[in-house]
Amino acid sequence: GPALLFAKTSQGKEEGRRFYACSACRDRKDCNFFQWEDEKVSETRLAAREEYNRSHQPFFTHRQNVDRYKNFVLLPLSKRRFCQECQQLLLPAEWEKHSDHQFLCDITTAQLKSPSQLLYPLENKKTNAQYLFADRSCQFLLNLLIDLGFRRVLSVGTPRLHEMIQSKASQEEEFNVRSLLLDIDFRYSQFYTEDEFCHYNMFNHHFFGGEAARETCRKFLCEESGERVIMVTDPPFGGLVEALAFSFKKLMAMWRETDKEGHDNREMPMFWIFPYFFESRILDFFPSFSMMDYQVDYDNHALYKHGKTGRKQSPVRIFTNLTPSMIVLPEEEGYRFCTVCQRYVSSGNQHCEICNSCTSKDGRRWKHCVLCKKCVKPSWFHCNNCNCCALQKHSCEKADTGCFLCGKAGHKRSACPSLS
Ligand code: SAH
Ligand code: ZN
Ligand code: ZN
Ligand code: ZN
Ligand code: ZN
Repeated sequence: GPALLFAKTSQGKEEGRRFYACSACRDRKDCNFFQWEDEKVSETRLAAREEYNRSHQPFFTHRQNVDRYKNFVLLPLSKRRFCQECQQLLLPAEWEKHSDHQFLCDITTAQLKSPSQLLYPLENKKTNAQYLFADRSCQFLLNLLIDLGFRRVLSVGTPRLHEMIQSKASQEEEFNVRSLLLDIDFRYSQFYTEDEFCHYNMFNHHFFGGEAARETCRKFLCEESGERVIMVTDPPFGGLVEALAFSFKKLMAMWRETDKEGHDNREMPMFWIFPYFFESRILDFFPSFSMMDYQVDYDNHALYKHGKTGRKQSPVRIFTNLTPSMIVLPEEEGYRFCTVCQRYVSSGNQHCEICNSCTSKDGRRWKHCVLCKKCVKPSWFHCNNCNCCALQKHSCEKADTGCFLCGKAGHKRSACPSLS
């Protein structure tokens, strides 16, 4: 889909020529597209780019993959193979071609219903950054949105949530929640029909399946027969908040347009799952959102795991435009309700009388600094040189430019906490 227009900035000021680069790949190694904004592109280069794009299309279309799946499920267990190298379900006629590849045999129906377990997570940090929800967090999210009365979930970059919903829907008769997955990972087209999965880029709101896919999404957002919709998204943390916000606003607009009576000034309900240090960036674009204290945990992320030994606190939170008091967090996992703030908070998050709110962002008990007039991390001390609170062994000279990723001062893009 369309590239994004970038500008280099220094001390908040734009400088130099602006350029277009790939919206989805934040690493030039993954996609080398680069073009100056004011550059004249020769016919030859244009043709070369088109040829490159053509030769990088997926081998099968979504339609073909749906047909292949239908044939695949008709096969006896002994003939169901999955090529791990190509990440592809194989039909017997194709075995030959993959003979020197590693493959899995006897693919069961249960395995087909949990593609996120079958496929390996695409962990490359700067493009897919596929970090899958731990079962506990996924179950929590699903129960939460069911309790809130939602019956349709637009899953944007949340394949595991989608999968949990799909598999419950096929197993339990009274389970009446539906999900549509929008994701850039085309491997999922092998397991879901065009009504269940759209190949989508959330950094530029591009539907690879064109108008038909867009229409699928639009239809899904129609709240017929009172089935309320919520969007749940868990984007790669290295992603530009601005680009994501642009796309999410487009999806919200799509939802608003589907309603004939008009949703008045309501927004499409949304859960945006993202690290707490992006709070101010998200609120810049969505002032109606608030951050919940719930810590979202992941299966394949060494740092963002809850429980077990040497428990690490996950920095990942839920941002939502729903009324915070409605988001009930589990007491058995250490959350409590603050009657003043009217929301659930971490047990360590103490209500500060001066700020008049529960101020901790990371679940630890924060302390109030009278000079800064706000609560700060427990490990921070007020530095009279810098005139603000910081780690005791910080160096007093200020970093001059903000981080290119999160916009905060004090570190460069390469050292951004969102990437570690
Ligand atoms: N925790 C989620 C997965 C989040 S990982 C779960 O368990 O369901 C981020 C997801 O966003 C991945 O599925 C990845 O494929 C998808 N993604 C990455 N870049 C994307 C893009 N540009 N557009 C759409 N989806 C993208
Ligand atoms: Zn293969
Ligand atoms: Zn409080
Ligand atoms: Zn305070
Ligand atoms: Zn201070």
